[in-house]
Amino acid sequence: MGKGRHAEIVGAGFAGLAAACALAQRGWSVRVHERAGDLRTSGAGIYIYENGLRVLEALGAYADAVASAPAAHTREVRDDRNRVVSVHRWDSASRVFSIVRQQVINALAAAAKRHGAEIATASEAVAATPSGELLFADGRRARADLIVAGDGTNSKLRDSLGLLAQRKRLADGAIRVLIDKTDTERTSRETGTTIEYWSGSRRVLYTPCSQDKIYVALTMLDDDAIATAVPLHKEAWTVWFPHLRDLIARIPDRNDDGGRYDRFELIKLKHWSSGRVAVIGDAAHALPPNIGQGGGCAMMNALSLAVFLDRFNDVPAALEAWERRERPLTDHTQRMSYLLGLPTTWPPLLRAMALRFAGRSQWVTKQRTLTARHKPTGT
Ligand SMILES: Cc1cc2nc3c(=O)[nH]c(=O)nc-3n(C[C@H](O)[C@H](O)[C@H](O)COP(=O)(O)OP(=O)(O)OC[C@H]3O[C@@H](n4cnc5c(N)ncnc54)[C@H](O)[C@@H]3O)c2cc1C
Repeated sequence: MGKGRHAEIVGAGFAGLAAACALAQRGWSVRVHERAGDLRTSGAGIYIYENGLRVLEALGAYADAVASAPAAHTREVRDDRNRVVSVHRWDSASRVFSIVRQQVINALAAAAKRHGAEIATASEAVAATPSGELLFADGRRARADLIVAGDGTNSKLRDSLGLLAQRKRLADGAIRVLIDKTDTERTSRETGTTIEYWSGSRRVLYTPCSQDKIYVALTMLDDDAIATAVPLHKEAWTVWFPHLRDLIARIPDRNDDGGRYDRFELIKLKHWSSGRVAVIGDAAHALPPNIGQGGGCAMMNALSLAVFLDRFNDVPAALEAWERRERPLTDHTQRMSYLLGLPTTWPPLLRAMALRFAGRSQWVTKQRTLTARHKPTGT
């Protein structure tokens, strides 16, 4: 157990907060540093699959995280004439929830505090050393048995240790927003169906994610200047998706509610750790969101990190064993997510064929759901 051992964690996102819960549960003293003034997250909604839900249960955050969130059971893909191209039904043994992101972050933060972790906001770290020293933007320094870098895609800690092997900016990106439900949507019993509408290389993903909110993700090629514009160019989106006129009209114009554009990235590291520093979440393995597993992998790897640290007294040895055991599944998840995004850049006919094939092939379905069906270490 971690009795007497101290961890400094950087970043209060899915990765950092999950690690805080798991380490504090095992007797570590834990301090989390978040550079923002509060724990506000962007990105509107999130899908959490069976694997991530199991981790939330193990961390004691499940009930609060999924409260009032609809269980998803069906995903439809539709073409530019609103015809159904494929329908995927999740089997009832493998849960999926679509949730307002902030609710999951709040649940993880509350669980971390209950387990005894301290969370410091407005605390920005800039570098770490393999021997376990953490350096802050304001000149402070801290020592720990373990440092966890959960500071996201642009991780300063990872870069201070020279761990980056590959950082690929992808051809596409997304704007994500939450919109209020209409009265009809609020009283509808049909909350478990998400719909992915395609029009050329553009896509609108429609997902009920609470009693009051719909999560809308719009994806497009990065060089599509009209589609990436925020506030949204509603006239153009209505021309591309005439059947979604009413939905597009409901997207707020103000920037804070009207979303922001994020380009997708793929990150791979030489190693997930250096001495006493472990890198987790997007900092270690950012991936495009085509199978909705970035947050799931972040939380799985955070929990398994704590489990491996329990098995070894020597921190660097634990981190190496952890990476050897856990990385292959994350690598598979990144590969699948990347491959499933490739048709976005293909000519229309080829893209339509690829979507149809991906939606109907049992082999593709098996590969894309492997992560969701995995029983995470520590659960
Ligand atoms: C369009 C889109 C849709 C997605 N959909 C899904 C989905 O449905 N399901 C899913 O599982 N995943 C999804 N993902 C992926 C998921 O959002 C990420 O994998 C997840 O947010 C990673 O969590 P993280 O904690 O590693 O990083 P982040 O969420 O980026 O958190 C990092 C935290 O660290 C803080 N920080 C950064 N630098 C410092 C510093 N120097 N000092 C202190 N604090 C710092 C930041 O402020 C932030 O709070 C999606 C991603 C995108 C782009």
